[in-house]
Amino acid sequence: MRQYDFIVVGSGLFGSVFAQQAHENGKSVLVLEQRKHIGGNCYSEDFEDTNINVHRYGTHIFHTNSEEIWRYTNRFTTFNRYQHRVLTTHKNRVYAMPINLGTINQFYGLNLKPFEVEDFIASKREGISSPRNLEEKAISLIGRDLYEAFIKGYTIKQWDCDPRDLPAAIITRLPVRTSYHDSYYNDRFQGIPSGGYTPIFERMLEGIPVETGVDFLEDPGYWHRHAGLVVYTGPIDRYFGYAEGRLGWRSVKLEYQRLDLEDYQGTSVMNYADLDVPFTRIHEFKHLHLEKPHTPDTTVIVHEYACIDNERPYYPVNSEEDRKRLKAYQELQRREGRVLFGGRLAEYKYYDMHQVIGAALQKARKVLRGKPEAATVESAGG
Ligand code: UDP
Repeated sequence: MRQYDFIVVGSGLFGSVFAQQAHENGKSVLVLEQRKHIGGNCYSEDFEDTNINVHRYGTHIFHTNSEEIWRYTNRFTTFNRYQHRVLTTHKNRVYAMPINLGTINQFYGLNLKPFEVEDFIASKREGISSPRNLEEKAISLIGRDLYEAFIKGYTIKQWDCDPRDLPAAIITRLPVRTSYHDSYYNDRFQGIPSGGYTPIFERMLEGIPVETGVDFLEDPGYWHRHAGLVVYTGPIDRYFGYAEGRLGWRSVKLEYQRLDLEDYQGTSVMNYADLDVPFTRIHEFKHLHLEKPHTPDTTVIVHEYACIDNERPYYPVNSEEDRKRLKAYQELQRREGRVLFGGRLAEYKYYDMHQVIGAALQKARKVLRGKPEAATVESAGG
């Protein structure tokens, strides 16, 4: 086999952006992908015999505040004008998420004005001033009643542990609003790629050899011998043969159904807040593409169940033990020459898509400008 400047392991966002940047800068790149398709968990395709584009690993909404990342991504796709709104069902009633003035007023049967919300919530804050975990953080933001209705059950289902054992950062992903504004994200740029996500990866990887169905870790020495630098985007614990134990990951089980119906739930994502409903949410993909030709008697829905599936890691649990293990792995990483670790799985970070793109662009620039070794050492520790 020939020599490559870079062998990129994994064709998800980090790997594909890195490969694209290297190729554009005249470097030789080979991409190895363990799955049968490119695109990692962003992979999308039309559901059989329909024009309904489904996100095979759950609904992905692209959003960013960075003009640079927005412009970069627009080189590979156009976006529709979709704006994400999430609803949640609690005790058979439907409320808007993230929690906003509409949710609060509907829940309490009140008509608070924006300037009255802060005092109202303060009266339910239970004196928590420096929250130490997800539960305390949520109560400090919205009070116990709303926490118990909309966050507690969903979080227990999603993470399968006591919310007091989870980091506060998970809940700060969701804004809390004192207005009726009900968009899920605050970012300036947002949309769904017009043709789905897969064409983005096809375009990024144009002109770059990609081998699918190849597990780099079956013979890492072989690939190392043919690469100036390996860019590894798989799980960091797997790279080191789980020498320091397994890092905790949550996964999801997705159950697809095609229905002979125009519209099942009237929105793209409906969360289910209550513990007695076993799934966390239902996705209905046609609502992501209102610009597409209408299908009056077909829709595709997916019930999402949280679970553990080590073959399909999604969400880093990040418990105290995980953080200790991660440090140990980062130490091993520092000693490993000629490998750059990047992306959600290799960095064990709850990255959004735009953050992965930003991280990959930054890393690629450093490596392409300077000495690859410098970037690999620096990448250890995030
Ligand atoms: N969350 C919740 N209720 C909801 C939605 C989210 O309690 O209706 C909490 C839950 O702990 C979840 C976190 O907020 O893990 C982040 O939610 P997000 O929607 O950002 O998760 P993702 O879309 O990445 O699955």
